[in-house]
Amino acid sequence: MICQCTIDKAVAISGIGLHSGERINMTLRPAETGTGVVFHRLVGPQTVSIPARAENVVDTRLATVLGRGEVRISTVEHLLATLAAYGIDNLHIDIDGPEVPVMDGSAAPFASLIEAAGLRKLSKSRTYLAIRQPVTVSDGEKRVNIIPSRFFRMTYDIAFEHPCISLQQRSLKITAETFRRELASARTFGFLRDVERLKAIGLARGGSLDNAIVIDDEQILNPDGLRFPDEFVRHKILDAIGDLSLIGYPLLGHVRAYKAGHDINHQLVEKILANPHCWQLLEFPEEHLQEALRVPLPDFSPELALSRA
Ligand SMILES: [Zn+2]
Repeated sequence: MICQCTIDKAVAISGIGLHSGERINMTLRPAETGTGVVFHRLVGPQTVSIPARAENVVDTRLATVLGRGEVRISTVEHLLATLAAYGIDNLHIDIDGPEVPVMDGSAAPFASLIEAAGLRKLSKSRTYLAIRQPVTVSDGEKRVNIIPSRFFRMTYDIAFEHPCISLQQRSLKITAETFRRELASARTFGFLRDVERLKAIGLARGGSLDNAIVIDDEQILNPDGLRFPDEFVRHKILDAIGDLSLIGYPLLGHVRAYKAGHDINHQLVEKILANPHCWQLLEFPEEHLQEALRVPLPDFSPELALSRA
């Protein structure tokens, strides 16, 4: 059978928070079957536990933010994307600040951390959420939908009226290998005018060229340029993997997104959860995986995914 996973040993990482500018320490610890991914925010002598699930999302404007009462944990998406891609079902995350450290703006430091911890198979089987009927959310030009697929796949398009970005598209099957190779090191990005506006209202205090790609009206300001020519769309896929993982199960479906973001990704998760006739929970022995998932697939082509209709 395909077993649930956790990490093999506890690992720690520290870095500054993008918005608070504070130094934050985070420890990842192994967890038993059925735990899920749970943040434990240390606030003075108290610990507030917040499961990484859609019902605990309290803000999606600048980043995906989990909350319980007054306690917040912001910018969870890059860490959660890494856990989803590596197939980590159960994990305790101790954190002593209001946001996951931004590190270099990508998921590569988290991927290295998970590789250093190693994976541990647990004794219970994993439950997948398999999409059976398409679910779509749109908001103006923004659109994201998910259709049946035997794998977790993402096709993403972005369009910015900027000479360094313009149109970018990428489509790939999400596995630990493709994540590590194609997505993990893609950094978050922002426009200089937005960064200045955020700093003026006390946000993005930790933001710098060390943890984001920053663009002015004409060019990329980072002295070393980009890590991939299409680093922007790769990062958007990374964000979406993290946001969609808040559904609480590994997904089997093909996500197609156009100009999407944290808000609409979260709306898709809520719409999927609200429409249980569109999906099925599956648990099965490994050898039957392909058989169980032999769902009728629509003809797929990148052109089709591009259609804005
Ligand atoms: Zn991001």
